[in-house]
Amino acid sequence: MAKILGIDLGTTNSVAAIVEAGVPRVIENKEGARITPSVVALSKNGERLVGILAKRQAITNPQNTIFSIKRLIGRRFSDSEVEKAKKILPYEIRPSQNEGVEVKMGDRWYRPEEISAMILQKIKMDVEDKLGERITEAVITVPAYFDDSQRAATKAAGEIAGLNVKRILPEPTAAALAYGLDKNINQKILVYDFGGGTFDVSVLEIGDNVIETRGIGGDTFLGGDDFDQRIIEFIIKEYQSQEGIDLSKDPLALQRLKEAAEKAKQELSSLLETEINLPFISAEGGNPKHLYLKLSRSQLENLTRDLVEKSIEIVDKTLKEINLSPKDIDEIILVGGQTRMPLIQQKIKEYFGKEPRKDINPDEVVAIGAAIQAGILQGDVREILLLDVTPLTLAIETLGGIAHPMIPKNTPIPYSKTETFTTAEDNQTAVEIHVVQGERPIARDNKTLARFILDGIPPAPRGIPQIEVVFDIDVNGILTVTAKDKATNKTQSVKIESSTNLSKEEIEKLKREAELYAEEDLKKKNLAEVKNQADNIIYQARKILNEYQDKITPEIKTMIETKIKELEEAKNYDNLEIIENKIKELSATLSQIGQKFYQQNQDNVNQ
Ligand code: AMP
Repeated sequence: MAKILGIDLGTTNSVAAIVEAGVPRVIENKEGARITPSVVALSKNGERLVGILAKRQAITNPQNTIFSIKRLIGRRFSDSEVEKAKKILPYEIRPSQNEGVEVKMGDRWYRPEEISAMILQKIKMDVEDKLGERITEAVITVPAYFDDSQRAATKAAGEIAGLNVKRILPEPTAAALAYGLDKNINQKILVYDFGGGTFDVSVLEIGDNVIETRGIGGDTFLGGDDFDQRIIEFIIKEYQSQEGIDLSKDPLALQRLKEAAEKAKQELSSLLETEINLPFISAEGGNPKHLYLKLSRSQLENLTRDLVEKSIEIVDKTLKEINLSPKDIDEIILVGGQTRMPLIQQKIKEYFGKEPRKDINPDEVVAIGAAIQAGILQGDVREILLLDVTPLTLAIETLGGIAHPMIPKNTPIPYSKTETFTTAEDNQTAVEIHVVQGERPIARDNKTLARFILDGIPPAPRGIPQIEVVFDIDVNGILTVTAKDKATNKTQSVKIESSTNLSKEEIEKLKREAELYAEEDLKKKNLAEVKNQADNIIYQARKILNEYQDKITPEIKTMIETKIKELEEAKNYDNLEIIENKIKELSATLSQIGQKFYQQNQDNVNQ
């Protein structure tokens, strides 16, 4: 029987999933990603782009790039939401003949249904490609607050894309289905959904296999994009004060800043500090200028705390409206990529006095629910909700011996994760891929599953080669790890049959050990991270000394060399504070050079 596709058609991103052999799984798109940006564009040379390719050129081609079309679908031009959307959407919007909305891309006007259909069509075609079979039916999710006209327009979009839409399913219901919560009698569930562009909260009441929506709230103009924007503003301000250059007027620089800000934000959900490194971001007097700065998790939290607090106020208001208090809620489900931010999870925990459910990937939970609904319609077993999960985290060893998680524990399988890594040394031509399993942050404390070497990488400065690593775990728990050098396409892979075959006792033992050593491990991990930072800054400092040797005075040169030497020495002692202090000193010395250059330039200008 032909499969019914589950689609989460989101404001920012969309995800497709399907039930295979009774198990829901997300299907990767043609670019190998599990999420597809809900963006359509007409490129400068007239080519239609959908997904990541459209997103990447959004800021440099604003008038012909249509994003957030979900804000307009099924709405009347006179709606106040359309009025508000017009203020933030850079493309042209006008009333259609029947008082709906039309948007302009290239020299043509389109209905929102047509634009959504382009996204759905890409998703459909990518899935067909991947599965090697035709897909003609789908379940598509919509926000709980969508009215009849918005639901009908979404259905129409599906039909334009060649999909018979079997069901339009509310997103929070889909999330509850994914967690198998529909079977529990008499539960109250709160779905906290922080996506890229919108924040939604829904309270569901479950009883006798019926899911009823008790209350909804939200803010259609509060989302992950606001967090990115705060980081962008912070970088622009820092750069302005360091270099005296305003990046906000340069669309190309802004596009790069937007990508870097989102990446930094996402990294800070698992790291305590990250680097924003944008070489050649601008130029002055014919000389290229680079942007390099560090952002810590606490800085990000300070920049965005009010956004998180606003979401909690909305939750509070929604509960009060239906006369419920936080303690009445049995389960809190997290949806939307932004909920990975630790501050969000902490505030939710403080408010409800209990941990939210986050065992299913928040980007994918709605699509998985849609696939489950599709599976139910297909008559494909109801027991699909008992998912097999990875019992322990699967990770890869990175610089400093740190175990970098690729597939977290309790991830429903099958699952696939792709990440790009780079080299740690200049002219490094081989990398060792060390695959480990366990919860300890230092790789060697976990169980080694495999080690292999990818060689033949063309010599290049550290940080330049791109090594794509894929962890793919199939429905039977067989893990395949593949590493590919993107420059040469050279690939190595290894199949590990036993990644989920640990006995219950072994799993428990490993988990207990992780808890026992948690504090000590954290210290080791922080030390490894700070040593990595030290290596990075020493590398940067040497590069600067080399590149600007004729512009640097002998005194400054000696100062930097001394600071490098001191930091090298500090690295030999396992004392976090000493290393951190020496990093600060070297970094301060380096920024003095920046200031001196700037001063010289100013002097030249003033003369
Ligand atoms: P969604 O609309 O659910 O796909 O959510 C997308 C939003 O989640 C975007 O703003 C992403 O930048 C954000 N996001 C994705 N991953 C993370 C992460 N690890 N930490 C913080 N935000 C994230």
